Amino acid sequence: MAEQSIIGIPASDGIAIGTFYLRAEVAADAHRMTGTVREEEKLFGDALALASRSLTSLMQKLDTTAAEILEFQVELLNDDDFLNPVFRAIEGGASAHAAWVSMMDGEIAEYAAGDDEYLAARADDMRDLKKRVLSFIHGGNNSYDLPEASGLILASSSLTPSEFLELDLTRISGIAIGEGSPTSHVSILARARGIPMLVGCGTALMGLQNGFAAVVDLENSILVHDPESESQRAYHARMEVLSSASEIARQNAHLPAVTLSGERINVFANVDDPTILTCIDASIFDGVGLTRTEFLFEGGELPSEDQQFEVYRKIVSWAQGKPVTIRTLDAGGDKPIPGLTFDGESNPFLGLRGYRLSRMRKDVFVSQLRALARAAVHGNLKVMIPMLTVREEMEEFRVMFNDVVDTMKGEGITCALPSLGVMIEVPSAALIADTIPADFFSIGSNDLIQYTTACARDNAVLAHLAQPNNPGVVKLIGMVVDAAKSQAKEVSVCGDMASMPSMIPVLLNAGVRTLSVAIAQGPVVKQIVRQWDGNASRGESSGG
Ligand code: PEP
Ligand code: MG
Repeated sequence: MAEQSIIGIPASDGIAIGTFYLRAEVAADAHRMTGTVREEEKLFGDALALASRSLTSLMQKLDTTAAEILEFQVELLNDDDFLNPVFRAIEGGASAHAAWVSMMDGEIAEYAAGDDEYLAARADDMRDLKKRVLSFIHGGNNSYDLPEASGLILASSSLTPSEFLELDLTRISGIAIGEGSPTSHVSILARARGIPMLVGCGTALMGLQNGFAAVVDLENSILVHDPESESQRAYHARMEVLSSASEIARQNAHLPAVTLSGERINVFANVDDPTILTCIDASIFDGVGLTRTEFLFEGGELPSEDQQFEVYRKIVSWAQGKPVTIRTLDAGGDKPIPGLTFDGESNPFLGLRGYRLSRMRKDVFVSQLRALARAAVHGNLKVMIPMLTVREEMEEFRVMFNDVVDTMKGEGITCALPSLGVMIEVPSAALIADTIPADFFSIGSNDLIQYTTACARDNAVLAHLAQPNNPGVVKLIGMVVDAAKSQAKEVSVCGDMASMPSMIPVLLNAGVRTLSVAIAQGPVVKQIVRQWDGNASRGESSGG
């Protein structure tokens, strides 16, 4: 075969070189003779028990996050309401195989139907469970038969979380998947384990032959199959640079990020789940630039003011006096919250999400603002609203928060009004940033890219159009930076773009001087900043 590249979407970082191995899929349509009703019932019951036992023993070997992902599947295996339709179908003459596949396909289709990231991840869990039970119906044991060799580039049309967790990762250098999105559970697992993984590669992957050299190149979002020897040499050289760079980054993690031209760049942390802070050294970061408060609302019950206050206070004290920006609830769109968000919107990304929803659910919003006002006396707290579209929303928010603080003071509660900012993630807000009466701006590049390019952020097929360095997006970011600077207001970028090594020079060139990044990326981002020369970039842009 000749060198061939397939474009995908990076689910993690790095470059991996190895031997290409396309795994054969579990035979979901395998043919089996149907037994008597009793035999099929027993077969299905045994398969459920074996699947449950295999999942439970796998969970015992895993860390909490990974185990939680499998918990959903174990719960389903113990849920009679969920399983009864299969037993009824078997009673009616269907084989265990057919009854299970038909019920699961219906469930998967329902979960996968919406534009919803959370439910799409659940659909992946369902596919995972479907395969696992099927393999036991067919007498299999669900384990991966990897070739003896190590250093494999594993390719597969799909990969479920439990399949990933069962892989012997010591033998796998990188992974390429035909389906999937970077926000799926399996992508989260690959990132957490530092496995280079490309998703959304499409069906082209299936035509590649095993045994050839292959490269998963996440810097360029490609899988290279049978690379020419010159490409292989270039990739080996690049990998050496990357591995010594990440070692240097780790050693320098506590030093400030200063560019070659002597400019200090702030590197803040994005906090999605504050429990992680207990094992993160605050001195690596200049503060917290984004706290996604949705994590507080995911447990099925709305959190009380006191519960929220405790969490906000902990984050503020972790930061030891450095600034902490907390975003008010950004529910809706890809983050539905039962009992709070509205069902049935034809396009939830363009619907009642973020501040639009909060102002309609004043009871919930006021309780969050009260908790934030109480936390504000414990440190350097800043609060911002997501999804602002027009300047009046910022005016309204300021009045509302002022009223909340006045009321609390009247009740004798110790509280303070924090500095109030706005996320710039809707193009109309970017275009009018100079008129928005906010104290600071934070650019949410994930949504800004989605809304500027008109590509849903969870749609793998459109990823080539929704690139962070899309000229329109970069232009809007530059406009927001200029608008903020002309009013001497702070501006940062807190979307994933700020965590991407290749995008950091783009942001610095656009004038961004504060980056808020995924916690694991802090050291690398700082190291990339240290290699950027502001003088050279000024020279380039003035033609000199
Ligand atoms: C963004 O849109 O860039 C952002 C930071 O917000 P979220 O990813 O939570 O929507
Ligand atoms: Mg956003």
